[in-house]
Amino acid sequence: MFQQITALPPDPLLGIAAAFKQDTNPKKVDLGVGVYKTEDGKTPILTSVQKALQILLDTEASKSYIQPRGNQAFLDGMEKLVLGNDNPLISSGRVESVQAPGGTGSLKLGFQLIKRSNPNAKIWVSGPTWANHVALIKSTGLDHAEYPYYDKKNNALKADEMLEALAQLGPNDVVLLHGCCHNPTGEDLTPELWSKITELALEKGFLPFIDIAYQGFGQDLDTDVAGVRELLSKVPEALIATSCSKNFGLYRERTGLITTVSETPELAAAALSHVLNIAREIYSMPPSYGGAAVGIILQDQALTTEWKGELAEMCARMRTLRSMLVNKIHERGVDEDFSFINRQNGMFTFLGITPEQVQAIRDEYAIYMAGSSRINIAGISSSNVDYIADAVAAILK
Ligand code: PLP
Repeated sequence: MFQQITALPPDPLLGIAAAFKQDTNPKKVDLGVGVYKTEDGKTPILTSVQKALQILLDTEASKSYIQPRGNQAFLDGMEKLVLGNDNPLISSGRVESVQAPGGTGSLKLGFQLIKRSNPNAKIWVSGPTWANHVALIKSTGLDHAEYPYYDKKNNALKADEMLEALAQLGPNDVVLLHGCCHNPTGEDLTPELWSKITELALEKGFLPFIDIAYQGFGQDLDTDVAGVRELLSKVPEALIATSCSKNFGLYRERTGLITTVSETPELAAAALSHVLNIAREIYSMPPSYGGAAVGIILQDQALTTEWKGELAEMCARMRTLRSMLVNKIHERGVDEDFSFINRQNGMFTFLGITPEQVQAIRDEYAIYMAGSSRINIAGISSSNVDYIADAVAAILK
């Protein structure tokens, strides 16, 4: 059987991580894989999460399965976090959520649901988007195409082109939108663009599918999803895949949820039954720990406050690192304008250098980033920012 398959090339980003690990240069810098890091390069467990996990350890009385749709406190808390505490959608009966293994598992359930509803649907992704979006769509057997999003030359949104492309779509189409902190560009939709996309969704009838993997990493928990909330207040149907990997630092606990917004409570119940059935066919029940920890945090006022503080600290650190990097590069007399990095949100930006320059910066300075020149802002620290700025300035001269 297995003589029919040959080994695949390694995943490019994981390959960069492996090469970084083997590099013996003491000055090496990892700006590759998208994981938050502290000033000393660590990805610690948040204190609020540690406390919740301890409570769980002390109180968990069984390892029997959890209910198929997941931890109820988690689902209730996360719906409020994404939609807003007082959102009338929550009590409308039109919203259903199912816990899933991470944002990736949530996206997969969403794509499978689309496939069941309309196998001929076409999924439109931003150009560029997170590489795994395309892999998930393809593995579901759905068609996909790109809508214009980011102009790499001018480091700006292709707003007009994007709206023109979306205006051509119809009820057979699904538009995958990044809720905030766009990966890989860092460039988010403006409130005006969210409004225009909402109008287009209503007029043309395409389905918005929103991926929220970085809520709280851009400006703050509410501002980051203001556009999403506006859209959801108006459209009859939507899908939302939410990840707790970054904002709760729960990466390996695979914690996320898929939320369906349907036109009526009856349709919502039907969508829920299919999502549960799809999950049953792939992995049966969601993992427990991450969702349980988030549920404990969001049900407890003191833990919620502590978590929000830790999240705000991560967010503020990334904003500081952005401006530090921009200032340091400009101080070195580089002609190119890097101020766009300050305007962007979240963990990523494109440095905007060529693949050859990416290779040169790696060979000469042991600074590792994706071939596209996407960097993880959290990989910068006050101790390596001068070194990075020196390298960027030298490469650009
Ligand atoms: N969506 C985007 C845009 C991402 O960048 C990520 C992770 O990097 C995910 C979804 C999925 O995250 P996870 O499956 O780790 O929760």
